[in-house]
Amino acid sequence: MAWNIVIAGGGFAGATVTRVLEAMLPRQSARLSLVNDVNFLLYTPFLPEAAAGTLEPRHVVTPLREIVKRANLRLGVVDAHDPEAGTVGITGHNGEHETVNYDHLVLAPGSVSRFLPIPGLSEHAVGFKSLADAIYLRNRVIETLEVANATEDPELRGQLLTYVFVGGGYAGLEALAELQDFAADAMQHYPRARLHGMRWVLIEAAERVLPEIDRSLATYAVKELRGRGIDVRLETTLEGVTASSATISTGETLPARTVVWTAGVVPNPGLKKLRVPLDERGKVKVDSFLRVEGMENVWALGDCAAVPDPAGGFCPPTAQHAVRQARVAAINVASAVGIGVDSPVEFEYRGKASFVNLGRYKAVGRVGHRRFHGFPAWWMARSYHMSQIPGLSRKIRAVIDWTASLPFRRDLSELGSIGRPGVLDPERYEQGGSHRPLG
Ligand SMILES: Cc1cc2nc3c(=O)[nH]c(=O)nc-3n(C[C@H](O)[C@H](O)[C@H](O)COP(=O)(O)OP(=O)(O)OC[C@H]3O[C@@H](n4cnc5c(N)ncnc54)[C@H](O)[C@@H]3O)c2cc1C
Repeated sequence: MAWNIVIAGGGFAGATVTRVLEAMLPRQSARLSLVNDVNFLLYTPFLPEAAAGTLEPRHVVTPLREIVKRANLRLGVVDAHDPEAGTVGITGHNGEHETVNYDHLVLAPGSVSRFLPIPGLSEHAVGFKSLADAIYLRNRVIETLEVANATEDPELRGQLLTYVFVGGGYAGLEALAELQDFAADAMQHYPRARLHGMRWVLIEAAERVLPEIDRSLATYAVKELRGRGIDVRLETTLEGVTASSATISTGETLPARTVVWTAGVVPNPGLKKLRVPLDERGKVKVDSFLRVEGMENVWALGDCAAVPDPAGGFCPPTAQHAVRQARVAAINVASAVGIGVDSPVEFEYRGKASFVNLGRYKAVGRVGHRRFHGFPAWWMARSYHMSQIPGLSRKIRAVIDWTASLPFRRDLSELGSIGRPGVLDPERYEQGGSHRPLG
């Protein structure tokens, strides 16, 4: 008999589970189905560099079909689950629904940006979680520089040249550092904008940034950013956003047309439909074997799951943890179908290293108990990520991108129209420009 194993989510966690199961399970013993809503894995640690243009966006993703060899990759989402019947519902890209039986189900649909009911946030701010966000932000920065350079209106120029980032976790800080670095380089091509000068602001509600790393390194990172003229506001919250301003808890209204919301992540809200036990944060409750509470043959891991951390509490939402959990989950699923170890193994990984890239060849990081900052940390972070990005061809492409960016100036092409093909109807062309409207 061949076991049916369904994996929902093809990010760091789901893709790794699939790959390890492919290696462990003899071909005829199991049918593996990997369901993901896109056909690639996004290497998020490189997202800030894709936004800043040091890496080509296509080089920070790896096609899932290159990562998994024998699993059946289905493009769509798992949006229903009947634990008693042992079935999941899958909605494909063409809108078709299908009910699929499983013997073992692995849930790894990740997380989404945390959202708060702040007036104007959803209308006027942008997140930083997907490749589309990164490409949008890069184009946005170039567009604001272009318009600021052309306008005669000093008030508008001030709004265009102010960039507000909300949330001082590693994703927000890295995105801010890389984009500010990019904009500072690009400014030399915009003499009128340069005369006015840019303003970059980081707003963080807590009394420190980077809760993921040691306080001394976080202090170094803030000093470094302030040294570049970035206005870091701690113990400050965003109160409201409009198309041309951001109001913060100090009572100030910052004239700004670009507000980036990077205030953390929450588990994928789609989990609520999947009839699995969730904790108060919406994470799937699992034990240290990654088995969902009260369910023999359902497993969950990665950003979507409350995985007990051997160091105490629960694991943080990082790719490092997701990949390590994936290996344990795969071993335990294989064990449950009678292959490999006799009894399931516990998740025991403790985060050994963490790095935060600050742009300009600088980073902060920790390996074991040793702390690093400046160029050594940057070099270690880059080497580490190089070793981790899946696929040899992606590694080579990333190295070529970095090498090519050393002698050449930044590329300032504003390609916001990518993904929006031109219209064929000449009348609409005359009325509204050459591109289809968004949405
Ligand atoms: C900008 C940024 C930088 C980061 N940098 C680092 C870093 O340097 N180091 C680090 O360790 N971590 C980093 N992270 C965190 C890391 O990306 C996450 O912890 C990691 O992606 C979690 O892996 P996952 O597999 O659980 O989720 P994801 O990688 O998010 O994958 C989930 C997948 O499931 C798919 N999916 C969603 N819903 C469904 C559904 N219903 N059915 C099927 N598929 C579904 C999604 O499209 C996605 O492909 C960063 C994150 C961001 C945003």
